[in-house]
Amino acid sequence: MQTYISHHNFHTLLDTLITGGIRVVAPRLTAGTLLYAPLGESGDMVLDQLPRRSAKEAFFPVCEDILSYEKGGQQVRLTDVEPATFPVTVLVGVRPCDAAAIPVLDAVFSWDYKDEFFLERRRKTTVIGIACTTADDACFCTAVGLSPAETKGSDLFLTPVADGGYLCDICSEKGEALVADGSSLFTELGNVTPLPFASPAVPAFDLKKVKGWLDGHFEDPLWDGTALRCVGCGACAFVCPACHCFDIVDEGTEKSGKRRKSWDACGFWKFTHHASGHNPRDKQPKRYRNRIMHKFKYYDDKFGQTLCTGCGRCVRICPVGIDIAAIVAEIDGMAVE
Ligand code: SF4
Ligand code: SF4
Repeated sequence: MQTYISHHNFHTLLDTLITGGIRVVAPRLTAGTLLYAPLGESGDMVLDQLPRRSAKEAFFPVCEDILSYEKGGQQVRLTDVEPATFPVTVLVGVRPCDAAAIPVLDAVFSWDYKDEFFLERRRKTTVIGIACTTADDACFCTAVGLSPAETKGSDLFLTPVADGGYLCDICSEKGEALVADGSSLFTELGNVTPLPFASPAVPAFDLKKVKGWLDGHFEDPLWDGTALRCVGCGACAFVCPACHCFDIVDEGTEKSGKRRKSWDACGFWKFTHHASGHNPRDKQPKRYRNRIMHKFKYYDDKFGQTLCTGCGRCVRICPVGIDIAAIVAEIDGMAVE
């Protein structure tokens, strides 16, 4: 179902939510960097650029406490962080490449272990996606089967129109509830002209062919050739909407402290460093190979999905110019049907 909201009414909707105590998270300049962050007022929001980091942190923060501990005599008191206390949230201005990654992450966080830290935030969050009208050379959502108008992962999906307002696609019950709550602000579609969608230039990959090649090339000269220059900074994983590895560490003293969950990255040497001293990924190309294998083979083997939405962030940020789209295109070119 479609409806329309003017630019002014959209801001009224968000400001009403904020004053009503709902946490509204949107792309916002934070210390000079555009990040998804809670808004104090809708005017702080920036909707015409892709934030530096992805929207995943609304569900899976960079670092969060899981529990605290305190020792008194021979007793250790543990206090869990309760996901039930997480706030109801509306996540706004999510580009299709970020929104589409959210249901992809659902698969791993609700698999054998149900991660309530992720799942409770997911239940309590309504996602307002927005169509892309601009793309740069690094964008390749269309190459992985998505598009600048993809509604996957969005509860309400906005398409900017020529007068500054938005055509709204209602994509789920949460989206329906949001529109019902602000019903006086939404109007009939009328005669609106959607702005043209962006058109990323990278040609579509044959993801089945790519996976078929990866199935048979765990050992291949490609890995050394493409990944030897990787410096293992982990930036590609940290900006990615789909990467989800984390570490759990205790921080504090013998007497008291916190157990914390923090983002990790397979590009780090320490990621697979065993206590014995052995490291099965002892060279950087093996670590980069894991990045490609996880995204285009292992996740598909396990969940039937690709772990890359083509947002291009890792291409833009890599300090040594490693381009995942170019590597996958090379594999696609080498693979046989
Ligand atoms: S692998 Fe790179 S292009 Fe793909 S979703 Fe992650 S950051 Fe975006
Ligand atoms: S951003 Fe580039 S250099 Fe850093 S870990 Fe990723 S591929 Fe390697």
